[in-house]
Amino acid sequence: MFRSPVGCQSLRQLSRPAWGAGQSGLRSRTTSAPAVAPSQAGGVMSFPPLQTYSEEESMMRDAVRKYAQERIAPLVPAMDENSAMDEEVIRSLFEQGFAVIRVVCASFSTAGFPSTQLSVNALRCVTASFAKTACDLLSIGSFCLSEAESGSDAFALKTRAEKHADHYVLNGSKMWISNAEHAGVFLVMANVDPSAGYRGITCFIVDRDAQGLEICKKENKLGLRASSTCPLNFDNVKVPEENILGEVGHGYKYAIGMLNEGRIGIAAQMLGLAQGCFDHTVPYTRQRVQFGKRIFDFQGMQHQIAHVATQIEAARLLTYNAARLKEAGRPFIKEACMAKYFAAEVATLTTSKCIEWMGGVGFTKDYPIEKYYRDCKIGTIYEGTTNVQLSTIAKFIDKEYDH
Ligand SMILES: Cc1cc2nc3c(=O)[nH]c(=O)nc-3n(C[C@H](O)[C@H](O)[C@H](O)COP(=O)(O)OP(=O)(O)OC[C@H]3O[C@@H](n4cnc5c(N)ncnc54)[C@H](O)[C@@H]3O)c2cc1C
Repeated sequence: MFRSPVGCQSLRQLSRPAWGAGQSGLRSRTTSAPAVAPSQAGGVMSFPPLQTYSEEESMMRDAVRKYAQERIAPLVPAMDENSAMDEEVIRSLFEQGFAVIRVVCASFSTAGFPSTQLSVNALRCVTASFAKTACDLLSIGSFCLSEAESGSDAFALKTRAEKHADHYVLNGSKMWISNAEHAGVFLVMANVDPSAGYRGITCFIVDRDAQGLEICKKENKLGLRASSTCPLNFDNVKVPEENILGEVGHGYKYAIGMLNEGRIGIAAQMLGLAQGCFDHTVPYTRQRVQFGKRIFDFQGMQHQIAHVATQIEAARLLTYNAARLKEAGRPFIKEACMAKYFAAEVATLTTSKCIEWMGGVGFTKDYPIEKYYRDCKIGTIYEGTTNVQLSTIAKFIDKEYDH
């Protein structure tokens, strides 16, 4: 749900750090070559490999990794066990500047909004459009699109916004709202004109303390247990007109824009998760001895490990490619869907295989592998299920063969 101004994507890119016995040595994959512009040698254009990072990217990556290992990893087992976010995580994310989103006022005109890279889990914005609700805000913002009866068919949403003199009144409910327990504001998609269908969908910024807003009991989930996921009820919630994000009736565009970008973030999340799990497991296979030798040395193990490593690498390239296309201002939607779809599959494969490779201990909570296994499943569900990604990819393919 969020990006390059560092938001949630950065968080999702974290390789989940390991804990418990047998700490994994995160292998170094940093190709810290400076950003290279395409060069021309002998008339042939050459481009840097996809895994080439600019100096800024390398610094960011190192800083996030250090932060994750030192500040978050120690808190993870308790947060998972208690199904509760440690407030220190949120506080330090803002403190470190990892939960900062830039929302550019000027780009709120017509088509500009998606390009502002608004991320949805974390907002820090200063913009007239947000009125006082979101001014100079340092808090989490939750993205509220899904409802009980509109999941994949998101724009069939039923939450209504009725216009009054200088405000709107929201009625309805939302489901599955990430981080709702800690959110300071909610970006709520509601329809101002049901007769216009999805063209009536408008994005409202609703303050956590708004009268009539109820944040209901969080779901008891398989994975992502530290992050709260709650239903919301809106009972005659009064929202000032100036709290409309962008333009009336453009909410569907903003939602699509956020989801399209967000998919690269989910791909990165799944990639980091798969890599983190792999990084934790391979050292174990190199230490564990059975039949008088390292289990890594059995060809049956090596082929599986090599296969999974190749899948992870392919997921990395798809993810980086989608991100680089987006960054370059080129079409990226099909590639983002491919990256998200594939990385989620790879994370599922990787975590499942890693449990097998660790044997019985992989099945216990002494190692983080079982958590990776639980956490990865969400990658096939949120920000568009796997089927939704495949349908979108197929639409692009269909178009490509029109001529
Ligand atoms: C932990 C978590 C966090 C979430 N966070 C947020 C959030 O912050 N904000 C938010 O708005 N939403 C959030 N969601 C909601 C999420 O985006 C939806 O769960 C998702 O879009 C799927 O909708 P659904 O659960 O209603 O499943 P459904 O849409 O009912 O899908 C069920 C199954 O039917 C398949 N299916 C549906 N339609 C088709 C079709 N046309 N073709 C083929 N197959 C189809 C799906 O692929 C899936 O396999 C979250 C969900 C979870 C679990």
